Amino acid sequence: MRLQNKVILITGSGSGIGKATALLFASEGAKLVINDLNEQHGQETVQQIEAAGGEAIFIRADVTKPDEVSAMVDQIIAHYGVIDVLFNNAGISGVGVLHEIEPEAWDRVINVNIRGVFLPSKYVIPHMMERRSGSIINMSSCIAEIGLARRASYAATKGAVLALTKSMQVDYAPYGIRVNALLPGTIMTPFVEDYLKKSYDNPEEAIKGLKKRQLSEELGYPEDVAKAALFLASDESSFVMGSPFYVDGGVVFGKNA
Ligand code: NAP
Repeated sequence: MRLQNKVILITGSGSGIGKATALLFASEGAKLVINDLNEQHGQETVQQIEAAGGEAIFIRADVTKPDEVSAMVDQIIAHYGVIDVLFNNAGISGVGVLHEIEPEAWDRVINVNIRGVFLPSKYVIPHMMERRSGSIINMSSCIAEIGLARRASYAATKGAVLALTKSMQVDYAPYGIRVNALLPGTIMTPFVEDYLKKSYDNPEEAIKGLKKRQLSEELGYPEDVAKAALFLASDESSFVMGSPFYVDGGVVFGKNA
């Protein structure tokens, strides 16, 4: 029970990495707040947690909307009194080379992936400051460190999240708050399946190519990232601050070798 009684908000936890993390955290004794745009997916995550004997509630909120995020945080505080861990996980894909990206599509990716980290942090942090304790995990990506084809808008957001993480850590360390970033490589989730469909005529061939990028020669699974998030959420990582945590099968350092 590495997260016994911790109250944890995971944005975008109706699917993929967020969902796998919520299931793992609940099995380690945490009380989960499942957030997503998609009510059905969010409720399914809650049901799976409860069926396994865990505790969770669902709150639908769009992480880009201040009123919805602020109301979500108020609801959590009214229900549980505290938020021990915030995992800013919600994110969307952005595909295309820069000169082909429509301004509206660019704005959408920037909005969800950066503003969607800013707003939950903005409303949760004052409660953590009051208790002089908290762990925030921001979802970046290994693309913050290496160039990958046709991902310009997405790469820009994940680089921004990594930079934001470091600045947040400096500002909030005096309040006992740790802020770290996760940098996954390619993880098989609905998000990646959608990206593969939009980007390649033959997704199966594309997967073979993607596997070769890893030193492991395998793609990752949501549970691989969930286990890294568990370490960052738990008190075991109390000396880990402002860190980029790679969960990428060696993509970043393989490329640099
Ligand atoms: P996913 O399966 O698509 O899950 C993302 C979740 O976020 C979805 O449930 C989505 O809801 C939700 N979401 C999107 N916009 C939202 C908003 N405005 N407010 C609240 N929730 C919202 O994707 P994933 O692969 O697990 O990705 C999770 C995070 O990991 C993302 O930040 C992604 O950039 C990052 N990441 C993924 C990989 C990878 O290879 N999979 C690698 C590196 C980093 P809807 O389904 O309703 O849109």
